[in-house]
Amino acid sequence: MSDALTPVGVFGGTFNPVHYGHLRSALELVERLGLEHLRLMPCAAPPHREAPDCSAAHRAAMVELAVREEPLLRCDPRELRRKGPSYTIDSLEELSGELGDAYSLCLVMGCDAILKLDTWHRWRELLDVAHVVILTRPGWHLPDTGLVADWLTLHRTDAHENLRRRRHGSVFVEELRPLPISATEIRELLHSGRSARYLLPEQVLNYIETHALY
Ligand code: ATP
Repeated sequence: MSDALTPVGVFGGTFNPVHYGHLRSALELVERLGLEHLRLMPCAAPPHREAPDCSAAHRAAMVELAVREEPLLRCDPRELRRKGPSYTIDSLEELSGELGDAYSLCLVMGCDAILKLDTWHRWRELLDVAHVVILTRPGWHLPDTGLVADWLTLHRTDAHENLRRRRHGSVFVEELRPLPISATEIRELLHSGRSARYLLPEQVLNYIETHALY
């Protein structure tokens, strides 16, 4: 065990499209937890929801555009390179191997994603590879009963120093600036011919227009 690990964040999602709810949370979390950087990792083939109409390549391109000028945030396109369902545990194992023993990993997810965690492939093994950071999100609550609630009771802590002492194993719940923005709402606005301006970066909106995405 070392007390000088460098923590790195991984924020998975469909990012269909990426918006300020994701980006602002990502940046605030980097600062709150002292992460070296945070990677937004677009999911190529989501195992738990219908494949988005928008291709993984487009979704990743929009994430790239959104983080291009922010050195604390990066796009990690590894799931686009892998065939088959994009299982988070596979990506974390791969990344952990690449970064090596001097780093700890934090898997970041919103409150809505945590509710279905027990349906994820090898979900109990996530904490063998990474810490988990749950972001509170307007309109969503943590589960009170069930497998995920029990798992939370067992692993939840406020000890942020664990990020520097252990490579994996703790669960944190972080309340950041609440921004009730969702990709669903942005797609609905665009479908109905209304403006989504100021909900997502201008470059991303321009990309959507150029490629007639939604
Ligand atoms: P959709 O509406 O298509 O479901 P979304 O806006 O929820 O999309 P995702 O790409 O599914 O975005 O989310 C990726 C991750 O970001 C998830 O863990 C989700 O909980 C989290 N997230 C999304 N929007 C916000 C937000 N406004 N604030 C905090 N976390 C968010």
